[in-house]
Amino acid sequence: MSIYDLTIDELTEYFLKIDEKKYYATELFSWLYNKRITSFDEATNIKKEVREKLSKDFTISNIEIVTVEKAKDVRKYLFKLNDKEHVEAVLMNHDYGNSLCISSQVGCNMGCKFCESGRRKKVRNLTTGEMVEQILKVEDESNLRISHVVIMGIGEPFDNYDNICNFIRIINHPKGLNIGARHITVSTCGLVPKILEFANFPYQVNLAISLHAPNDKLRKEIMPIAKVYPLKDLINAIKVYLEKTNRRVTFEYIMLDGVNDKEEHALELVNLLKGINSYVNLIPYNETDALQYKRSKPLTIAKFYDILKKNNITVTIRREFGGTISAACGQLRSKKEDI
Ligand code: SAH
Repeated sequence: MSIYDLTIDELTEYFLKIDEKKYYATELFSWLYNKRITSFDEATNIKKEVREKLSKDFTISNIEIVTVEKAKDVRKYLFKLNDKEHVEAVLMNHDYGNSLCISSQVGCNMGCKFCESGRRKKVRNLTTGEMVEQILKVEDESNLRISHVVIMGIGEPFDNYDNICNFIRIINHPKGLNIGARHITVSTCGLVPKILEFANFPYQVNLAISLHAPNDKLRKEIMPIAKVYPLKDLINAIKVYLEKTNRRVTFEYIMLDGVNDKEEHALELVNLLKGINSYVNLIPYNETDALQYKRSKPLTIAKFYDILKKNNITVTIRREFGGTISAACGQLRSKKEDI
């Protein structure tokens, strides 16, 4: 088991179970996340026999960077995991800080038609530690502090719910990576039961919903999950979430040429989102070789934006990073593995 799998509470429990001082948990968190030790031997204020026990019970490094592709304000990382699977992360430099987009699964079972990652079925969930380590390895390579984390890489985070929650507990902890909850965003294609569960998760993290269509007919065509959870259920779950958390949700809307980018779609979207405390992020589609979808024309995106705006929907167009470096999620992995 990786030491990065454990929250501070779990580590405290571990030390109590082996009849050791529970404050070792805090000490060890500092060694791991502040001093960034690579071997338990370096944790010199923890007594030797405990360090030896830790080395027997836990591993430290479990993922490695295989390639880094760089462009202006963006770096894209390909990682190799212990079982030789690959996942990706993308680092983006904003004026407000450095944000890292991490992967949550190897492959993905959601099957969204436009998505490169989903071309490969889920092989397994990432462990909590593998997600934490994506941040550690990127900070180490780039010499930058990651201030924002978005769980929008390969995988469906709510299909790996427990590990995602522990991941958030660790990276948000002051003795962990100390990343503010409001700087952490979880993106889901809309697993309704998990949205309802997440409404009770006591951290002020952001929730983004991949909407991509304003009606069930179209949504079912491009996102199979819509057959399981129709828009009515999704919107109701979001209303519960908003009620309980008092937060605002983000709706992501990929602009696909001729598919979901017409005026009528914009108007339908206005109706759907009326009165919901949210904002819409229009995403220019990243085209990928294996899929036939094209990105909407800039003028179409602008018109769509105007309609939402005129109807009092808060809307932004996502700034683009790294089109030239296979930044469409999943592209780096498929290039490497050739599937
Ligand atoms: N499964 C989660 C998180 C991973 S996908 C989810 O569905 O939200 C993260 C976001 O990237 C989603 O909104 C997804 O629809 C979008 N996405 C997938 N392929 C894309 C592409 N080629 N160009 C732009 N956005 C894409």
